Amino acid sequence: MADSSIKSLSDLLAEGVEGRGVLVRSDLNVPLDDEGHITDPGRILASVPTLKALSDAGAKVVVVAHLGRPKGGPEPKFSLAPVAAALGEQLGRHVQLAGDVVGSDALARAEGLTDGDVLMLENVRFEKRETSKDDAERLSLAKALAELVGEDGAFVSDGFGVVHRKQASVYDVATLLPHYAGTLVATEVKVLEQLTSSTERPYAVVLGGSKVSDKLGVIENLATKADSIVIGGGMCFTFLAAQGLSVGTSLLQPEMIDTCKKLLEDYGDVIHLPVDIVVAAEFAADSPPQTVPADKIPEDKMGLDIGPESVKRFTALLSNARTVFWNGPMGVFEFPEYAAGTKGVAEAVIGATSKGAFSVVGGGDSAAAVRQLGLPDDGFSHISTGGGASLEYLEGKKLPGIDILTNS
Ligand code: ADP
Ligand code: MG
Repeated sequence: MADSSIKSLSDLLAEGVEGRGVLVRSDLNVPLDDEGHITDPGRILASVPTLKALSDAGAKVVVVAHLGRPKGGPEPKFSLAPVAAALGEQLGRHVQLAGDVVGSDALARAEGLTDGDVLMLENVRFEKRETSKDDAERLSLAKALAELVGEDGAFVSDGFGVVHRKQASVYDVATLLPHYAGTLVATEVKVLEQLTSSTERPYAVVLGGSKVSDKLGVIENLATKADSIVIGGGMCFTFLAAQGLSVGTSLLQPEMIDTCKKLLEDYGDVIHLPVDIVVAAEFAADSPPQTVPADKIPEDKMGLDIGPESVKRFTALLSNARTVFWNGPMGVFEFPEYAAGTKGVAEAVIGATSKGAFSVVGGGDSAAAVRQLGLPDDGFSHISTGGGASLEYLEGKKLPGIDILTNS
């Protein structure tokens, strides 16, 4: 990885892991349906290479992960049981699940591991200390986690989706054990570095999604680096309102209008807004679509997608890009009638990629849109597994879980 002061999984493998306990923080926070079935195994698949390499090399692997948002104690519906089973299938070996996080069952199972075994701890967020604001509380959980891998244990950070969190299993545990970046974290960091330094130009950024406030930091930071930022999705309406246009009943953040005005003043030549909008009477899949110019949105209608002329203009901007970062759908892609903008722009990104551009998709809903719209995963150079983490990095913030891996 570019940041050579961070040790990698290959460094750990070279040092030797046979018979050693290795604690791995993975991001296995997959979506489940009402019956507890995994609806998208993406994060499990992305976590396999690191876990497999360690197990194959004879490490006693202890996996730490979270699922959903339990309220700080055990809740059966947030058990990692389905995840352990699915991971076992992918690894081609049994993954045992401890009945607790760092309790007597986890301890007994960790002690009983033989070389190559994989033990998953129960949902780490069943422990309140994991996310505590109190340093000492987090450290006490981190100590208990570190004890599971013994004296010569090591820590591998591979949960990219959580590295922006200062949590016991992400941050504090790295202060106690020799630490390494897993392959997923190493890849993600390398990609993000490529988007922020020595980036090949033209550099095009595509931003959408629901709220301007979520993406403001990214716009501000990338406006100075990118050649063009195209804006669609729910957030475009606050920009259109900042231009003095009426946006009907579209999603609007009135408190952000002044900020958007300022951005348009400072970076008006970089920021591109839609010229036509697909509107509906209601926020509903069966509300009939109507395409209108962006300056003629009816009072009683809301914009749910960007229109075909906007897709054409955005496609032209993307066609010669050498670097593309896309975050946030262009419309409510969950409703088929309002998915064309997202699909069209995604196809433009794929087109640029096929001509040699380096393209990155960040954001949970954007990645979901790629799959839901039947677009090829490999049409993009990289689809990030961590929406929040990649956005914070691109905002120029330091990620605690990455920072702590750096050895100075
Ligand atoms: P990501 O997870 O990729 O970062 P966001 O979470 O910011 O993206 O936003 C995704 C959501 O934005 C989607 O659920 C989509 O329906 C919604 N969205 C997109 N365009 C609009 C719009 N015009 N009005 C309301 N919601 C929208
Ligand atoms: Mg989202």
